[in-house]
Amino acid sequence: TMQIFTPLNFLGFVYREIRGAIANINNLFTILEKRSSIEDRPHAPALSIQNRKLTFSQVSFGYDEKRLILQNVSFSIEPGQKVAVVGESGAGKSTLVKLLFRFYDVSNGTIFVDNTDIRDVSQQSLREAFGVVPQDTVLFNDSIWENVKYGNPTACDEEIWHAIRQAQLLSFVESLPEKENTKVGERGLKVSGGEKQRIAIARVLLKNPPFLLFDEATSSLDTHSEKRVMEAINQVAQNASTLIIAHRLSTIVDADRIIVLHQGEIVEQGTHSQLLINNGRYAKLWQAQLKETSH
Ligand code: ATP
Repeated sequence: TMQIFTPLNFLGFVYREIRGAIANINNLFTILEKRSSIEDRPHAPALSIQNRKLTFSQVSFGYDEKRLILQNVSFSIEPGQKVAVVGESGAGKSTLVKLLFRFYDVSNGTIFVDNTDIRDVSQQSLREAFGVVPQDTVLFNDSIWENVKYGNPTACDEEIWHAIRQAQLLSFVESLPEKENTKVGERGLKVSGGEKQRIAIARVLLKNPPFLLFDEATSSLDTHSEKRVMEAINQVAQNASTLIIAHRLSTIVDADRIIVLHQGEIVEQGTHSQLLINNGRYAKLWQAQLKETSH
């Protein structure tokens, strides 16, 4: 049980002064459910994806005119890459996602999918291009099988088993009293946070989307469970361009690029080892985490 608190200890250590704010973190699922007030352009075509490249180009944004939340943010995710965004609470990580899904439009700059400005295509087609693993996955009161199948209702049995295996769920499913027919959800078996995330990952595997958005849970995955979730994520990431909103640095050491956001600006970006050599903000966070976990 000590292990379970490690991530929270880490967050508390690194961002002690803002720990309270982290507890109130915006849950991506709420974001996704929110109705957008942005209208499609008349006759906006569906997004067509060739390369799976995602680009933020000099993006600035404020919820109101008085305060810019993102300033001149530029980065791209090359096809198949895994890019992580880190930064303290309030740095603007969720805002990036809200812009990407067009819950708001940028104030300046452009977000591109391949060479298409996302304002030029239908929002529905844009959102369909993303598989999302939210912080907190909603399970239906149904079998674990149906909960996975929800990712693609037309998938055949073999594909569903494949997704269960790749999402590191097979031994869990086999341990259940009624195997894949075991009921989960509020009125069924309660599953752990890590298992829930792996069910979400299995859904996304079935969907096989060109883009993957992983909103890492802020708390309560033990080290072993966290490792299994990341292994599962890496399975989906093989076929997708992936954006990870990260809360723990240990899960993103293998990212192709790490973007360090601070007060709405990118203050550093690079691989884990480049950022350690830079010896800047990221390196400080990393050192803090090492100290914390060695105690
Ligand atoms: P956390 O890790 O806590 O989720 P974050 O890095 O995701 O933080 P954002 O949620 O993007 O940060 O918030 C960035 C800033 O924008 C914060 O100062 C926040 O108060 C502000 N903000 C977020 N949503 C709104 C909104 N709907 N209206 C006005 N301001 C907002």
